[in-house]
Amino acid sequence: MQYISTRGGIESVPFTEAVLMGLATDGGLILPRTIPRIGSETFAEWKDLSYVELAFEVMSRFIDDIPEADLRELISLSYEKFSAKEITPIVHQDSLHIVELFHGPTFAFKDVALQFLGNIFEYLLEKNDSMMNIIGATSGDTGSAAIYGVRGKDRINIFILHPHERVSKVQEKQMTTVLDDNVFNIAILGTFDDAQAIVKSIFNDIDFKEEQHLGAINSINWARVLAQVVYYVHACLHISSHENDKATDFSVPTGNFGDIFAGYIAKRMLPEGTIRKLFLATNSNDILSRMVQSGDYSLSEVVVTSSPSMDIQSASNFERYLYYLLDEEPERTKQAMAQFTETGELDLTNFQDQIQRDFIAEKVTEEEVSATIADFHKKHGYIMDPHTAIGVHCALKNQSKGIPVCCLATAHPGKFGDTVEKAIGTSLKLPDSIEELMDRESRCELMEPDKNLIRNFVEKHAKQS
Ligand SMILES: *Cc1c(COP(=O)(O)O)cnc(C)c1O
Repeated sequence: MQYISTRGGIESVPFTEAVLMGLATDGGLILPRTIPRIGSETFAEWKDLSYVELAFEVMSRFIDDIPEADLRELISLSYEKFSAKEITPIVHQDSLHIVELFHGPTFAFKDVALQFLGNIFEYLLEKNDSMMNIIGATSGDTGSAAIYGVRGKDRINIFILHPHERVSKVQEKQMTTVLDDNVFNIAILGTFDDAQAIVKSIFNDIDFKEEQHLGAINSINWARVLAQVVYYVHACLHISSHENDKATDFSVPTGNFGDIFAGYIAKRMLPEGTIRKLFLATNSNDILSRMVQSGDYSLSEVVVTSSPSMDIQSASNFERYLYYLLDEEPERTKQAMAQFTETGELDLTNFQDQIQRDFIAEKVTEEEVSATIADFHKKHGYIMDPHTAIGVHCALKNQSKGIPVCCLATAHPGKFGDTVEKAIGTSLKLPDSIEELMDRESRCELMEPDKNLIRNFVEKHAKQS
């Protein structure tokens, strides 16, 4: 499989190069040249595979430059730290099927992709006898999942900036209690935007970037999307046994459009009608739900909500979908993105029919989030986190009679304990491994949000070839 850029400015490259490239060098996003199709016979044969075996079957359709034995090993390594045997187990609640994606080491769905990305990076660096210094800014979940994805790896150092005292206590502890020599936490005396701006400006210094072998771990890496396609396929197989081969819908709490885009790829890959609709659920940061409902893709101010991992306006993966919407024409995609960068808006009203063939959307308010958490707890004794509740609310509101809906549960409720406890009115029992974090030794540099200070710190501690 060869990979191209949504903006058409790169020679096609195989998977391993696409992964190391991250963002395409022309500023576009990387996509496979074609989306492989799975016939219904093959799909039926996958029914009894374990998650890891299935991941190999799915991923090997997109990867032909890693030997089979190595790829199997990488996948198996990536899921051995998950606490659930099925990796992404499904809990059935009436007509809803809750796909729990939070059984990885940091209790959020980002582990599913970042455990894999960390292993792929290490494998490729080993092969090229090279190394990498990863820098990233986080508002909480991505940072800890990235740190757990690369901790202890020989050829990678990681520097994660977070806004001091503006991430939850659990998130802070998850990051700062990782004491491996290759992990550097930096708490910035400022906001997430300050941290992000510093990381961006460091990456924009091209000489420094090359000198220090800087790498990113944000949600635009194709390997992350690919790892996420697997649990859609896994859930579909499970639902078709459970519901006698019915088509299913998926409801996805959405921020950067990465998770739901993986669903879009799965929908196009699997036999016609396996996945019916993708429900795109947002919080008050509703640029994407507006886009689906009315074709209005325009930026507004970021609003702070109880689902911070979705407090996003400019969804970094949206360009991938736009490319398909514009008939896979890179020139048009490039123009549309240039316009969006300049004006902060795109008018997609002419594409309404096409968009609504695949998506249904809903914006969910803070009141609806806590009511959903409370109701579900009362009715079913099941406790969910605020992100998951957004998807569940959207599913209950838009469900079609007789069609099952898989709701993606993206974080463990214990990660957002305050919001959840307020909603259910009782205290929440945290998993032991979260409880233990609170007493563990931690390590973190507290720094002013000054680009030069951070740059010097990275230079001093970077892994050298
Ligand atoms: C990142 C995240 C999301 C949003 O996923 P996207 O791929 O950015 O759309 C939802 N819920 C949780 C808990 C997350 O960490």
